[in-house]
This record gives sequence, structure tokens and C-alpha cells, in this order.
Amino acid sequence: MTTKAFVIGHPINHSRSPLIHGTWIAAHGLDASYEAIDVAPDDLPRFFERLRQGEFAGGNVTIPHKEAVFALCDSVDPLASTIGAVNTLVIDDGRVHGTNTDYLGFLGNLDAGAPGWSDGLETAIVLGAGGASRAILVALESRKIGSIVVLNRTRETAEKLAAELPGPISIAPLEAFNDIAPLAGLVVNTTSIGMHGSRFENMNLALLPKSALVTDIVYVPLETSLLADAKALGLRTVDGLGMLLHQAVPGFEAWFGVRPHVDAGLRAKIEMTLGH
Ligand code: NAP
Repeated sequence: MTTKAFVIGHPINHSRSPLIHGTWIAAHGLDASYEAIDVAPDDLPRFFERLRQGEFAGGNVTIPHKEAVFALCDSVDPLASTIGAVNTLVIDDGRVHGTNTDYLGFLGNLDAGAPGWSDGLETAIVLGAGGASRAILVALESRKIGSIVVLNRTRETAEKLAAELPGPISIAPLEAFNDIAPLAGLVVNTTSIGMHGSRFENMNLALLPKSALVTDIVYVPLETSLLADAKALGLRTVDGLGMLLHQAVPGFEAWFGVRPHVDAGLRAKIEMTLGH
């Protein structure tokens, strides 16, 4: 019998997940399918009833459902609760379990693109305090980084996040970047700045140590202005596409029983869809 998985969202036609999982299904010769399903917010409870009937092994959840599915899952793992979002569902014996694989995607991407990046890392700067930032803070906490400084435009959002998440997190405004930069071994952009040609103003990357790593989770464009500026200064960089690819690995393994690999062929395939 074909093992089925899905991604739900509203709208859903932009999702690259069917291409990622479809590529792995074909590569492993599995009797499996992965389909995009448009589910409007009002239809979510009915969709969960369908899930409990056992038609699917599981699936992904994307905007706008990542928070709403919490109340509908039969269980949610503690890290997803800490992050405040569910992006992966696994159905077992009529029960729907929710988890979040974004933090694993972030770690997998940096481990592949900058091996050893967290060894002895004292200070990390995280730009942004939105949903993605929470997943990244959980990821950084898991690597026991000495100090994590969250810089955000809106102070209240950052305060809430620092109060709710574990780890050595402090907060400051974006304008504090140049003061903290000389101490930072890692800079992560989790804001949407970088999309549509937008860029950070008055941020002097030349103040970072020469060994610093700069990474952006925005992947459209693939080379954001932050990454381009960091590269021009000779700093190490890792782009955000790998996070999208690596976050798909645990779900695929849970539904289909095979651990897939993120390789250059898959990356090239997804890269071709960027900007479309
Ligand atoms: P979100 O919850 O809406 O958070 C947006 C963040 O960006 C907030 O910290 C917000 O600051 C900040 N921001 C937005 N516009 C700004 C501006 N003009 N100036 C200063 N700060 C600004 O969004 P999200 O879900 O965290 O996603 C953020 C980005 O990450 C998106 O581009 C998304 O596509 C990307 N992402 C990538 C992956 C991946 O797999 N690579 C995964 C998830 C998300 P305020 O608090 O001040 O509003």
C-alpha cells in the first residue's frame, strides 16, 4: 500500500516541500506519495478528523496553521511547545503527534556548511525575535553557546521571547549591533530583512572577528545583502536554503522509514525554483 504524506497550508501552491520529498521518494524508489493540500483555517478540524482515519503517515504544516494545529494535535513534543509552532505531524495508530523540525534544519545546515561552527562559540548575535528566531534560539541553546544576544526592532517582542525560552539570552535594539559585533563568533539573521532587496542600515560587519560566521535564514534571494557584505569582507557565510532542506529530513524519516540525504542535486533542483 502506498504510504502517503502531505503539506497543508493556505495558500499552498508556493510550497517547495512536494519537490523536496518527491525527489527523495523517487531516489529511494519508495511506494509513497507527498501532496500539497490547501486547507482553509475553518477546515482544519475536519482535516484532523481525516488524519485520525489513518489515510496518511504524516505531513508538514505551513503558514497560517503552524500555531493553530497545537490545539488539534493529540500530543505535541516539548520543544515544539517551547518554540510555539508545529511544522511536522506524525500519525500513529489514529493519534496525531506534532513536532517542530526547524531547529534541526538550522543545525543541520550549519553542521554541513560550516563544520565545527559551535565548538567553543562564546557569543552569538541573533537578529529578530519572531517565530523563526524561537526555533533558532532553541537550536543554539542545545549547543551550549555561552551567550546569545537577540537584537530586535520591537523591544516587547524580544522581552517576551527571552522570558519564555531557556538559555543565556539577553536582548538589545538592532542599533546595538556595532557594540556587540567584536565579541560575536556567529551572526544569524532571522528577520525578513534581505527579502525584496531590503538591507540592514548602519550595521558594520567589519567589526566582527575575522573568524566569525554569518548566516541568514532568508533564502529568497539566496545571497542576501547581509551575506554578500559578509563575503566581501572575507567572513564565512552559510545561506538559508539548507535550513529548508534539512528541516525536511526528520519528517521524511518518520513517515517513510528511510533517512534521506541533502545533497547538491536536491539543492540545485530547489534553487532553480527560487524567484518563481
Ligand atoms: P515573523 O514571526 O513575522 O518575524 C519577523 C521578524 O523580522 C521580527 O523579529 C520583526 O521584528 C523583524 N522585522 C520584519 N521587518 C523588519 C524591519 N523592516 N526592520 C526590522 N525588523 C524587521 O517571521 P518569521 O516566521 O520569524 O520568519 C522570518 C524570516 O525567516 C522570513 O523571511 C521567512 O521566510 C524566513 N524563514 C526561513 C526558514 C528556512 O527554512 N530557511 C524557516 C522559517 C522562516 P519586530 O518584532 O520588530 O516586528
